[in-house]
Amino acid sequence: MTQPLPKDRTRSRSLYVHTLGCQMNEYDSLRLRRILGAEGYTSTSHMEEADVIFLNTCSVREKPEQKVYSFLGRLRRLKTRNPALKILVGGCMAQQLGRQLLDRFDTVDLVLGTRAVGYVRELLERVRETGSRLAYLPEEEAPEDPPCWTQAPAADSITALITIMQGCDNFCTYCIVPYVRGRERSRPPERIVLEAKWAVESGVREVVLLGQNVNSYGHGLSPRVSFVELLGRVQEVPGLSRIRFTTSHPKDLTESLMKAFVELPALCPHLHLPFQSGSDRVLRAMNRGYTAAQYAQKIYRLREICPEIALSADVMVGFPGETEKDFQDTLELMESIRFDSLFSFIYSDRPFTRAAQFGDKVDSATKSRRLSQLQELQARITLEKNRAEVGAVREVLVEGESKASNGQFTGRTPQNRVVNFVGSRQWIGRLIPVRIVDAYSHSLKGEAVSRGGEGFFQGGD
Ligand code: SF4
Repeated sequence: MTQPLPKDRTRSRSLYVHTLGCQMNEYDSLRLRRILGAEGYTSTSHMEEADVIFLNTCSVREKPEQKVYSFLGRLRRLKTRNPALKILVGGCMAQQLGRQLLDRFDTVDLVLGTRAVGYVRELLERVRETGSRLAYLPEEEAPEDPPCWTQAPAADSITALITIMQGCDNFCTYCIVPYVRGRERSRPPERIVLEAKWAVESGVREVVLLGQNVNSYGHGLSPRVSFVELLGRVQEVPGLSRIRFTTSHPKDLTESLMKAFVELPALCPHLHLPFQSGSDRVLRAMNRGYTAAQYAQKIYRLREICPEIALSADVMVGFPGETEKDFQDTLELMESIRFDSLFSFIYSDRPFTRAAQFGDKVDSATKSRRLSQLQELQARITLEKNRAEVGAVREVLVEGESKASNGQFTGRTPQNRVVNFVGSRQWIGRLIPVRIVDAYSHSLKGEAVSRGGEGFFQGGD
């Protein structure tokens, strides 16, 4: 299954990819692009021109699922105009629905389960040659892709996403991931380091290591390699400026990972640590494995070790049985931790999950009211934290021109705050010291300064 096609069978075709959901899906989309790229497919941003359309789906929340149905409905017109067009669906919904997607949408040619991306080349060939429609949901991942399929000719971003592990063993009662992504599996460290090296060689300056629970990286590897050891190895990649990672599970956050934030210069001082609820009763019902006090203690310890750390988290409102008191506990935890930013969601039943069977559902008006109240609180905290940045000089990794305004460039501080400032195209991909001069709800305004912190930075170094 892993030999490249003979040259005379390859020809230039175009591929359109639409990705919904999380960064893990973005990584899988990138992987598919590279595998098919090595077969002569070029990426297009115009769906109408595509020979192959890949829709990478998410069913972790309800909203992306609805988007999938409306997207697939819209593709009928293209398929009528171009019957040779092949439509592929991957991601969690593909894994969950399998053949049902083929039955429901006669435009879909190939359904790829969450462990099927590595087989896409052969499957697509089979669909083309036989005219059949397939759903492939393997139990096992394809072997690691050969280098020629994963090595990017040039990066289209200064940040690369690298999946370090798949699946999850935690079985939080609201979450579909263990059912659609399978049990936890860590990728070999050598392979991860190699991908980071390729990324840097192609122009990347920052890597984001992805996993559902990166803190438990290494289980099942022989010899065992811890997540902190992996971070150390990735940091050794010459030319790599920054490392970030997501997501961590609070119960598995270790003292050695906390220390890594000060011991590894390339590791950015930003941690995304979902807490989900501030109520112990709800946390127990979610099967999260920690109490609100244990979560808070880990944060206090982390701040002691690394005072400059920025914190973000996920939180959910309206979990079955959540009372007003439980919700107030969540607000209290937010007030005491004061996150730099927060991703907040309304609970919705997901198929297969235990929480979907729980009674005592919270009505939607209450859920919406709680979400607004929580978001209002967080907006105030985020703005206060952003305003506290004014006057500071931060090293910004310049990502590109700002979409918002002419002549402005955009980048992120080590703490993951977005900064817009007047700059130059030559600075893209470079670390530039920027003084923060103003603060808004979602971003900062800055002025580039010289390395000593004074005067305008001219570039060129
Ligand atoms: S830790 Fe819980 S919420 Fe996160 S992926 Fe695993 S089961 Fe889902």
